[in-house]
Amino acid sequence: MTDYDVAIVGGGPAGATAAYELAQRGQRVLLIDRDGRIKPCGGAVPPILLREFDVPERLLETKVSEARMVSPSEQRVDMDIGGFVGMVDRGKFDPWLRERAAEAGADLVTGHFEELARDENDGLLVRYREKNKQGKLKTAHVSVVIGADGAASKVRKQGLDRQEKMKHVFAYHEIVRSPAGKTETFDPKRCDVYYQGIVSPDFYGWVFPHGECTSVGAGSAVKGFSLRKAVKRMRDNSGLDDNQVVRCEGAPLPLKPLKRWDNGKDIVVIGDAAGAVAPSSGEGIYYAMSSGRLAADACAEFVETGNPRALRQVRKRFMKAHGTIFTILRIMQYWWYSSEVRREKFVSICRDPDVQRLTWEAYMNKKLVRAKPTTHLRIFFKDLAHLVGFNPQ
Ligand SMILES: Cc1cc2nc3c(=O)[nH]c(=O)nc-3n(C[C@H](O)[C@H](O)[C@H](O)COP(=O)(O)OP(=O)(O)OC[C@H]3O[C@@H](n4cnc5c(N)ncnc54)[C@H](O)[C@@H]3O)c2cc1C
Repeated sequence: MTDYDVAIVGGGPAGATAAYELAQRGQRVLLIDRDGRIKPCGGAVPPILLREFDVPERLLETKVSEARMVSPSEQRVDMDIGGFVGMVDRGKFDPWLRERAAEAGADLVTGHFEELARDENDGLLVRYREKNKQGKLKTAHVSVVIGADGAASKVRKQGLDRQEKMKHVFAYHEIVRSPAGKTETFDPKRCDVYYQGIVSPDFYGWVFPHGECTSVGAGSAVKGFSLRKAVKRMRDNSGLDDNQVVRCEGAPLPLKPLKRWDNGKDIVVIGDAAGAVAPSSGEGIYYAMSSGRLAADACAEFVETGNPRALRQVRKRFMKAHGTIFTILRIMQYWWYSSEVRREKFVSICRDPDVQRLTWEAYMNKKLVRAKPTTHLRIFFKDLAHLVGFNPQ
């Protein structure tokens, strides 16, 4: 006899999605989230997220329709997105997802997950402290645990035998009040992306408008690199230097899915805890929710059949759906972010209307876009020309 079928640690996009899907199927779900801290995040989401996960448009702070790429030599290339990038406020988005899971029947507990343990029959126990209950340690007996507790996952550290090193950058951003409207250097409907070594030697910097506020941030894995200086530079460039600062915060951002997501028995990790973030872009919200849905399928099957192989399917199905895009993005990051000369060329290539269309369609719909073979060929030769230093324009 267990208290719950599934205990989910972490109520971010990954955990809250898994909880919602499982509760909808009538599973007994415990969702533990410590709450109280808004996840540091640029908040950019593709339109497909709204469709696939039934998220209402009203949760978007704004829709961005243009992207400006800035090169090391300050060359600016404006790209028409041909649709939109949605911007969510994680301080509203995450609680909404958790509430939806609770309304579907999950037991939502605001508290702190402490540890995994075993009873005398090798049954799985989850220990946690509920907020506002004098911090008393509570124990739940469960069939399976989903670790959705972010990049520094305690569930992963305690529950998975093989400790792989997580490849990540550290991302830092400042949330500032947006200007009242469009200015010479800032547009509330445009996101700016900086490919400059001075902003990040191995990743990129961003200015993402969110209506009343704007996220200005950058990431890097280089030890000692000052992300604060990088952000200051972008704020100065965008004319946001004097705007009121609402929050300054940072967090590790995984950039490669781990090889193993489950313990072969009754524990599985998802979202940032599993490294399920797109290389090159650092996009993680959509992929966290996608892994949450796959974990819900697998855990429901596990509860029904008791077969631990079901849990192995989470990573397998995730990589089947997104592995090719991740590989392409990893190669892009390795190649284009590695020197100032390459960054300059990368921004130049973004001028190409075919590159713009294929890039944004792929981002918005999470599918590699099929174009006429001649289009791919044309892009290939243009890329090649840029790489060898011959600029056809
Ligand atoms: C600065 C920055 C900017 C980013 N910008 C973007 C962007 O623009 N677009 C995008 O798609 N992605 C972005 N990302 C990545 C994105 O934020 C993550 O990939 C995504 O939040 C992962 O979701 P998750 O549910 O796996 O983890 P998280 O969102 O980290 O959620 C983990 C949850 O677990 C809870 N938790 C942790 N430990 C415990 C515990 N012991 N007990 C109880 N609860 C616990 C936390 O409170 C949290 O709610 C950004 C990341 C950073 C750091």
